Amino acid sequence: MRSYMEVKKHTMTDRRTDLPRAGRADLHMHTHHSDGAPSVRALLDHVAAHTRLDVIAITDHDTIQGALEARDIMRQQPYPFELIVGEEVSTRDGHLVGLFLRERVRPGLSAARSIEEIHAQGGLAFAPHPFFRAYQGEGRPITMVGLGIMVRELKLDAIEVINATPFLSAANRRAMNYNATTGRLPALGNSDGHILAAVGKGYTRFPGRGAADLRTAITLGQTEAGARDYRTHELLSYLRFWLRQQRRSAPAPRIEREGAEQAA
Ligand SMILES: [Zn+2]
Ligand SMILES: [Zn+2]
Repeated sequence: MRSYMEVKKHTMTDRRTDLPRAGRADLHMHTHHSDGAPSVRALLDHVAAHTRLDVIAITDHDTIQGALEARDIMRQQPYPFELIVGEEVSTRDGHLVGLFLRERVRPGLSAARSIEEIHAQGGLAFAPHPFFRAYQGEGRPITMVGLGIMVRELKLDAIEVINATPFLSAANRRAMNYNATTGRLPALGNSDGHILAAVGKGYTRFPGRGAADLRTAITLGQTEAGARDYRTHELLSYLRFWLRQQRRSAPAPRIEREGAEQAA
């Protein structure tokens, strides 16, 4: 149980409820089009029913298919929030998120070149979890490779100072400190949600309500990052998800039956 206690201690609270910034956005989340658990429709329905978000960006790893599927669904059926097509690009130097995309940015380019490509198609670029690095491999369920101090040289439009993934509080503090002293980029709070319960745990407040207002706020540096605590059962859901990911990424033969998996 010790680990859950630690999680509780390190989660962040909403310190800024008095902000005049009315809109609330979560600009970093994943669907089953990359390594996220939810389907696109389940994600949209969850945001509508269980969050207060006005804007979301779907940012699957190296694909915009999930975001495009969401856009198609939202053309058929109204949802009470706006969608931004995004992508978390695996650049040669680390993860980079493009927002307001029309086309996929291919992975493997330098971060600088990827930002150029994002800007060339009218998008905005931000550095997700800039000071957190964990690699996919045996026994490591998550790959999160931040750009580190390289953010200083890049033509970024914003920086994610709160990534609400559990256990990232030290990396978030470093990002906040860095940005307060050196970076001074518009600050974003996001969930990086890979399960439904995570969506909205990190958020960005901005003046206005819609995606266009958010874009203006980023451009003018009027955003503010915030976070909400996970409840214990939500943390347990995340831990179960990571465990499943870990089994999937392990080199051992895959066990197909759920019951057998749990007994292993
Ligand atoms: Zn990432
Ligand atoms: Zn991510």
